[in-house]
Amino acid sequence: MATRKLLLLPGDGIGPEAMAQVTRLIDVLNSDFNAGFETQTGLVGGSAYDAHGQSISEEDMKLALAADAVLFGAVGGPKWDSVPYEVRPEAGLLRLRKDMELFANLRPAICYPALAASSSLKPEVVEGLDILIVRELTGGVYFGDPKEIIDLGNGQKRGIDTQVYDTFEIERISGVAFELARTRQNKVCSMEKHNVMKSGVLWKEVVSATHKAKYSDVELTHMLADAGGMQLVRWPKQFDVIVTDNLFGDMLSDVAAMLTGSLGMLPSASLGAPDGVTGKRKALYEPVHGSAPDIAGQGVANPIAMIASFAMCLRYSFNMIEEADRLEKAIAEVLNDGLRTKDIMSEGMNEVGTEAMGDAIIAKYRALAA
Ligand code: NAD
Repeated sequence: MATRKLLLLPGDGIGPEAMAQVTRLIDVLNSDFNAGFETQTGLVGGSAYDAHGQSISEEDMKLALAADAVLFGAVGGPKWDSVPYEVRPEAGLLRLRKDMELFANLRPAICYPALAASSSLKPEVVEGLDILIVRELTGGVYFGDPKEIIDLGNGQKRGIDTQVYDTFEIERISGVAFELARTRQNKVCSMEKHNVMKSGVLWKEVVSATHKAKYSDVELTHMLADAGGMQLVRWPKQFDVIVTDNLFGDMLSDVAAMLTGSLGMLPSASLGAPDGVTGKRKALYEPVHGSAPDIAGQGVANPIAMIASFAMCLRYSFNMIEEADRLEKAIAEVLNDGLRTKDIMSEGMNEVGTEAMGDAIIAKYRALAA
């Protein structure tokens, strides 16, 4: 059986505590289910800076580029607030995204029935919600040139950012969205603002052409991004996969995230282009939350976002669909049983720490596989 190569980058703060639960899960998958994972562990963020003055070493970058997938915890914390800008903890994550050419960011928003009451929306609006936002990550207004502040010489300045997309960038991100839709409910909604933006006109045109050429079996709809924001909080269950650009995706995925309750529950994946020879995509999986310095080291962090990120890794990097489904089901059942970490605690539930939550999910996984 082929070896599955994983690079683990736990990072700072609660990153290592959450990653430890995934490491235990990987051990179980290897020992009980012969999964063949081979892991290496590297440093990123503040911990890498402390060790060698960089937010990620060249050696660890090489390991990341050679791995089948990278699992990333979280970086940052007050300890590194005053380190030079180029080596700040976040620079390690940006370097990984750039060098691995991760252009597609996948953010699922799943509302576990047991947590429907902790959303800011009515339970019936979010219960059982399962949508996926596919955000373009390497283009658009965050990267376009010119990007500057110029002095107009009359006491005024002008700030300029440039929203720019080329055909190939829209083709490849919409291709990812259509392919993922085929593994779900086969529906894609593309969001842009073609009513006021030329890049939006092109976006809509290219998404439609890509759909017609290769993915006409998938149901495609278009929505203006502002209306999309409104629909996401009005009736989010109308969506399956949403594909959108970098800026709108940044905002819409945060809106979708909050439909589901806590930051400690949200996984994400970032994918690159398929390799010309093997067809495999470079990929990095990480929880949406940061290093949570306020609770780091206390053993109370919620490991579910990290564990659910690993479930995405099983699904998208290794095509281990059954295992991914089982792991997601294990999470849902543990929540149904009333187990809660502090961040998602509510009356009448049973509060547990990081490791006990990891234990429960692993035990449930084993039971579901039996
Ligand atoms: P944060 O996500 O770390 O924390 C926000 C709040 O949510 C905190 O109260 C925290 O305790 C809570 N929280 C987050 N994850 C949790 C979990 N798994 N379980 C329980 N509670 C959880 O965001 P922040 O406080 O704005 O940033 C802290 C540090 O993390 C900063 O240095 C920031 O730059 C960094 N950060 C890193 C990433 C990343 O690594 N991708 C993302 C965001 C922020």
